[in-house]
Amino acid sequence: MNARHSTDVDALAEVLGDRFGQRLRLDEPLAAHTTLRVGGPADLWLTAATLDELIEAMCIAWQHQVATFVLGSGANLLVSDLGVRGLVVQNRCQGVTLPEGEPTDEASDPPRTVVESGVILPSLAHRLARQGLSGLEWAVGVPGTVGGAVVNNAGAHGSYTADCLVRAELYSQRHSRREWRSVNWFEYGYRSSRLKQSGTRQAGERAEQFVVLQAELALSRKSPAEIENRMAAYTQRRRATQPPGASIGSMFKNPPGDYAGRLIEAADLKGVQIGGAQISPVHANFFVNQAQASASDFVALIELARQTVKARFDVDLELEIERIGDWGNEQPVAHT
Ligand SMILES: Cc1cc2nc3c(=O)[nH]c(=O)nc-3n(C[C@H](O)[C@H](O)[C@H](O)COP(=O)(O)OP(=O)(O)OC[C@H]3O[C@@H](n4cnc5c(N)ncnc54)[C@H](O)[C@@H]3O)c2cc1C
Repeated sequence: MNARHSTDVDALAEVLGDRFGQRLRLDEPLAAHTTLRVGGPADLWLTAATLDELIEAMCIAWQHQVATFVLGSGANLLVSDLGVRGLVVQNRCQGVTLPEGEPTDEASDPPRTVVESGVILPSLAHRLARQGLSGLEWAVGVPGTVGGAVVNNAGAHGSYTADCLVRAELYSQRHSRREWRSVNWFEYGYRSSRLKQSGTRQAGERAEQFVVLQAELALSRKSPAEIENRMAAYTQRRRATQPPGASIGSMFKNPPGDYAGRLIEAADLKGVQIGGAQISPVHANFFVNQAQASASDFVALIELARQTVKARFDVDLELEIERIGDWGNEQPVAHT
């Protein structure tokens, strides 16, 4: 029992503890599981290694009416300092089914690849390259899981998840069964989908509770060397333009016809620091954790950037990242 936990959470902890033993952790610090290295504790934390475990953990939590959150690599999340109430399930389901046939066997087209949602994108891109499967080269520098990419429509270098996704398998609380949904169902736009929620939310506060299980990708066959060369060029471009260190990629979406980074730089905010959080001197749309920053430091920096850009250029910047967790008395940001 933990005095901070609700009785529902305590009851769930008991059931999950019986089922998963010591793999269930209480009050797990989320800073260790986000690329920004920020975030307070999750009441309950579990790593799912198989799709069955993932579904089972979610269903048990839903039955207990405890909020759930599926975490991929935490590469798009600003988690509050107070942490996340309820259950956070880290997705490490990493099965990959590659098409049959030789790597450059044109006859076996169209090669369809099915990947589980916990597969790490850059590793997948390299693995596909070795097989002579092209279409995911853009993902080589995008940290995160397949599940995160399906939710966010992750993309880079002019390509998007939606371009190579045929369909994805979901498990939703409402339907209580596994269902494949074709790419059109996801209503993809620029870093948006019908699954992605914008703005600040507590775990579990989605219009629909769901988990992404698998994705089927349509790829084309090319020579491994050609694919590797393209990925090497993308990697080089990224290294030249983006800062190293702890970040969550682009903080804001690019407004129509412009770039968030250009606007923040033109507002003279490059290099500005609040607490341990800094607007990168290398790329103004990257906010980096310089020294033990808190989530509140990042919130203050986000607000500074938004208000300054609005005042100088009359442009409303929209968050690309998600703020999640318990923000206490702090008013949620109204704009996203
Ligand atoms: C250095 C750096 C560079 C980046 N560059 C890019 C870039 O070029 N392009 C780009 O698009 N992004 C970029 N990002 C952001 C990030 O890589 C993507 O947003 C990525 O898709 C996040 O995946 P994730 O697995 O980490 O998701 P998380 O951050 O863990 O989660 C994101 C959302 O997806 C949900 N989710 C994740 N998995 C599942 C699942 N299986 N079922 C249901 N919901 C799920 C989570 O609940 C959450 O709502 C960058 C980030 C960093 C740190």
